[in-house]
Amino acid sequence: MDRQKGIDVLFNPRSIAVLGASETKGKLGNDVMRNLVDSGFDGRIYPINPSGGEILDHKVFRKLSDIASDIDVAVVVVPARAVLQVVEECGQKGVKALVIITAGFKETGLEGAEAEKKLVAIAEKYGMVIQGPNCLGFINTARPYNATFAAGTPQKGTIAFASQSGALMTGILDWSLMEKIGFSKFVSLGNKAHLDESDFVEAFGRDPDSTFILLYVESIVNGRKFVEVCKSIVPHKPIFVIKAGVSAAGARAASSHTGSLTGSDTAYDVAFKQCGVIRAQNMASLFDIANVYDDMQLPAGNRVAIITNAGGPGILTTDACETSGLQIAQLAPATIEYLKANLPPAAAVYNPVDALGTALAQDYAMCTEAVLRDENVDAVIVLLTPQAMTQVSETAQALVESHQKYPQKPMVTVFMGGNSMVYPRIILSEGKVPVFDFPERAVKALAELYKYVVRRSSLKDESVPKFKADEKRVQQILDNVRKDKRRVLLGSEAHAIAEAYGIPVARIRLATSSEEAKSIAAELGYPVVLKIASPDIVHKSDIGGIKVGLQTPEEVEAAFQLILENARTYMPKAIIYGVDIQEMADKGKELIVGCSRDLQFGPLVMFGAGGIFVNYLKDVAFRLVPMTRSDATELIDETKIGTLLKGVRGEAPSDLQALQDTILKISQLVDDFPQIVELDINPLFAYERGKGVSAVDVKMTIGE
Ligand code: ADP
Ligand code: MG
Repeated sequence: MDRQKGIDVLFNPRSIAVLGASETKGKLGNDVMRNLVDSGFDGRIYPINPSGGEILDHKVFRKLSDIASDIDVAVVVVPARAVLQVVEECGQKGVKALVIITAGFKETGLEGAEAEKKLVAIAEKYGMVIQGPNCLGFINTARPYNATFAAGTPQKGTIAFASQSGALMTGILDWSLMEKIGFSKFVSLGNKAHLDESDFVEAFGRDPDSTFILLYVESIVNGRKFVEVCKSIVPHKPIFVIKAGVSAAGARAASSHTGSLTGSDTAYDVAFKQCGVIRAQNMASLFDIANVYDDMQLPAGNRVAIITNAGGPGILTTDACETSGLQIAQLAPATIEYLKANLPPAAAVYNPVDALGTALAQDYAMCTEAVLRDENVDAVIVLLTPQAMTQVSETAQALVESHQKYPQKPMVTVFMGGNSMVYPRIILSEGKVPVFDFPERAVKALAELYKYVVRRSSLKDESVPKFKADEKRVQQILDNVRKDKRRVLLGSEAHAIAEAYGIPVARIRLATSSEEAKSIAAELGYPVVLKIASPDIVHKSDIGGIKVGLQTPEEVEAAFQLILENARTYMPKAIIYGVDIQEMADKGKELIVGCSRDLQFGPLVMFGAGGIFVNYLKDVAFRLVPMTRSDATELIDETKIGTLLKGVRGEAPSDLQALQDTILKISQLVDDFPQIVELDINPLFAYERGKGVSAVDVKMTIGE
């Protein structure tokens, strides 16, 4: 069965069997039964246990096959050793979706991993989908049903949440009950043996009960699928993610500049950015965002109005806004007049609006509603400190009413204080007005939501350009390298591959004798550059393996000998194929275009300031393949050198079109040839607009 159809059944089953249901309190099989019954599931519930009997007024069946009618979903809580057998029985019974709560699989080692593979094989044989194993279970509050062993059921809401950590979910569930945050779906991903985060995100994207998607992951199973799925959802639903842990890809050794500049987490950062997913910095921030978004509108822009009864918190909030990309709104003249007319003369009527320590509930409501009506304002932050006259609870109530009058604009509140704030905070939470204890958190949450608004509008539905390329020639060269039992390509080979994809290169050929060197030089035309040709010498200048600007055959002869000598001295073990003779390229802006590969996300294209200082400057940015022209444009714009290329201080702008083309051609090349695991063009010279670019050093490595 199609995975999405399987998830549809999981979301909305007519019947649920609990395999391993138990009468004994404290057993998982009892917790699951209790949650299922308590959640008010309106379908049929079938507890299964070989001992028979009755659990919570439900007749217990000894085996699945004893049930006459169809079963849509089976929740599995039997001991690990019995799971395979039980899953087989589910297949025979025609069960469509399995929630395997039982632990003891991949997470326990090799044997467990083997069993997990068998599990998936059985599911696939019968066309079933599996959530888990080793998970907390599944909750759909809209239905409603709770098939977990968690302590309680979350409130009904519109947030869909999937988490790779089950324990974390139980904490969040408990916290959400206090904060009055509602969920639509609550999915514990477990080991992700079959259904993974992308499958659930895709389903959340289609789910009319979910308006907001939150994800906690330690890894992503299939990076490209994830990016594709998210790209299609982000335009209509926000996705926020916490990615914990360091990816394994970071552990591999890198010989190229691109490889060494690719951090262990780069691929995740880039992937999230490229598909419009917002990465929250920590758990608190993730749920602050959820708190603000739940039942609130998104801010249409970043202009914030601040209402306060004290100067200090107003200034703190202003500072926090300015450092997180929010603007302090310029209130409309009419709003200012209105505030002047209704506040004491000592009050500040410009933004932040300081209604003074004497502000009562009605003053708060008056100010808040005035700025909510103002067209220059996109969101409102209301601050309150408990001063002698402050009516904390009345103000909370008044603000709930203000929000109900103007529900289109996000409004967040900060009630600073301790014990005296407990009750007003409850009033606000219940009134669906987000409330925080400190201004920075409120600002951060609002800023992240605004980030999403910006991200969403920058996602373009754009196709991936396709350049003419000689793929056969590339294949031929790669085959030869493999035959030669090498992983590193010679300069002449790597340049030829770049050329086959239409990238302008400084022509280069391999010479095995000084005579040959001179005749190639004559053919290419003076001046020329000589470079050591050895798969063992990656950074040629480091060992005196390069001589540039050679003008005569005599100079070529001398350089040829000197380069070989240097190589033998500094790299005595290196296998030397000869010396590359290359035409001298005009000096341009030195850039780097490269590629490394990530286990989950595939090729990552890097662009930045090139030359010998790349690793020191670290002025680079990344994009995942496939890339659109906007991706290439944004990639260049993300770097400092990108600004220089536009022409500053009277300099002519560089040929950005040719540069984008080169980046896109590299993207196409590494997508076409997964064998290429690392690639560096450093430098790529960029010339003035209309004069193109030239690759003078191309390095490539192929995989095993
Ligand atoms: P490596 O990076 O292995 O040390 P390169 O081939 O990049 O060697 O050469 C080092 C530097 O020499 C380049 O950064 C560039 O400035 C200069 N250079 C190399 N080849 C050429 C060429 N064909 N034309 C002009 N300058 C060159
Ligand atoms: Mg170089």
